[in-house]
Amino acid sequence: MNREDHIQQLKSHPNFDILVIGGGATGAGVAFDAASRGLSVALVEKNDFSSGTSSRSTKLIHGGVRYLEQAVKKLDRSQFNLVRDALKERSVLIQIAPHLAKPLPILTPIYSVLEVPYYLTGLKIYDRLAGKSNLKDSRYVSAKVAKERFPMLKEEGLRGAVIYYDGQFDDARMNVSVALTAAEQGAVIANHTEVTALLKTNGRLSGATVKDSLTGESFDINASVVINATGPFTDGIRHMDDPDAPGMLTASSGVHVVLDAKFSPPETGLLIPQTEDGRVLFILPWLGYTLVGTTDHPAPIEDNPQATEDEIQYILRHVDQYFDSPITREDVLASWSGLRPLVSDPRAADTARLSRDHVINISDSGLLTIAGGKWTTFRKMALDTVDEAIKLGSLTPERESQTEHIRVVGGENFESTSVEALRQNRDLEDDIAAYLHRAYGSRAERVTALMNGQAKRLVDGHPYTEAEVRYVVRNEAARSITDVLSRRMRLGFLDEQAATTAMTSVGQLMQEELGWDDTRLMEEKTAFKASMGV
Ligand code: FAD
Repeated sequence: MNREDHIQQLKSHPNFDILVIGGGATGAGVAFDAASRGLSVALVEKNDFSSGTSSRSTKLIHGGVRYLEQAVKKLDRSQFNLVRDALKERSVLIQIAPHLAKPLPILTPIYSVLEVPYYLTGLKIYDRLAGKSNLKDSRYVSAKVAKERFPMLKEEGLRGAVIYYDGQFDDARMNVSVALTAAEQGAVIANHTEVTALLKTNGRLSGATVKDSLTGESFDINASVVINATGPFTDGIRHMDDPDAPGMLTASSGVHVVLDAKFSPPETGLLIPQTEDGRVLFILPWLGYTLVGTTDHPAPIEDNPQATEDEIQYILRHVDQYFDSPITREDVLASWSGLRPLVSDPRAADTARLSRDHVINISDSGLLTIAGGKWTTFRKMALDTVDEAIKLGSLTPERESQTEHIRVVGGENFESTSVEALRQNRDLEDDIAAYLHRAYGSRAERVTALMNGQAKRLVDGHPYTEAEVRYVVRNEAARSITDVLSRRMRLGFLDEQAATTAMTSVGQLMQEELGWDDTRLMEEKTAFKASMGV
């Protein structure tokens, strides 16, 4: 996908069926769904695809063990349905993105035998609700097996553990891949393009004015339906439509820290069931590191939220309680914060909508807002949203939504065993072949084709190569150093020091690819450091 071609198409199209504002999981999902039905759809994202909450999740594709607890305690049927729907989506996601998502066993340690029936019964209900899409049955294991599965776990007082299964994925690459798949289905998409005003004709919304932040140019996009999928920024767009619109959203920050791989076994996660403020905390192997999170604190809405020292210390304190070996601040390789959009429906009387965990709202002038939900359910949320858009705009789709069956880019013809062929064909080192196979799936060969016979690493000890930078600039609309290092590759989220080292080579390669002058290169480096909080 060439970003500048898409910008030209945005400028020249007389009237799209749908204009989506926001290129996170929700907006990319809506564009994917609408395009799969043959509707004409445009999507604009003010920063980068997945630059908001969608790259900062816990990376779990889950039904929500916590939602289930509430469902059981309150005997709330709608909550059960929510969990059941999310569990179905869990299995769809693993099928449509087999290279980016996989099942992960998660161990819940038990320190009192009285807890065994509680956790085991709950997780058995979880399995039952998943029905045919269950990944693998939950089971109780002895303290000895628990310790073998998760050797860092504190032994003292350990009675046993319950192991259950959820999905795990690479959220930013999934987000970018969904956006690219939408483009392959016919959507016209542009990152670094911000909605600055909404257009109205006779009091009805008819499009938006956008600004291409790479050129500074503003232009109008006309559309029959405008969809607000801006996550934490939902109310900002609602106020562009109607300055008196009641707020729908507050935000809370969720922080994660990344530790070395040695803090988790490669194929098992740990759930800490009860934190000091009554939450759960996950310690998960992720992309060769250990990911720990998350927290929940009221937070202001901003583009680049940073983890506070208090939040980092909160996480370390809990890990320390559950680990045999000590953990210190120096063990933290990276930390980041994501804003959790907490939504309420302004028409609160509509309880059927409130019982879902996403909210769809249509303003008097026809602004369709979709907010809330979770990553796992993005496809279902998109389906509901496009259904509403079709009614609102009297649109005429060519067919039903196809998103349950279309594999996202890189997932087509993906074989988990083809990594060996990739390695041999290009004479790659093992870690580079494994990485490209996971991140680019069946398109990994397109990255290696740019290697000119030699895979040049960006930083020693990491599988990212110069060819990958060129590939994501040419094919995945990466236009800033942060786009490359934090969302196409995940180094910025995994190891801040290594990412800062890689910045120089990435900057040079992007300068060559995009014709940046030296001033622009300096600005890009400064922006990247700011995104890292340095
Ligand atoms: P965002 O990803 O924030 O996207 C909104 C986009 O709109 C942004 O990219 C923004 O730049 C853009 N935008 C804003 N204003 C404009 C404008 N004027 N013009 C153009 N674009 C604009 N869910 C799970 O299923 N599993 C998990 O493990 C999980 N963990 C989580 C952990 C944390 C800490 C948090 C906070 C959430 C977690 N979630 C999880 C939930 C999930 O991450 C969110 O539901 C999802 O990412 C929300 O996506 P979104 O597209 O609505 O918002």
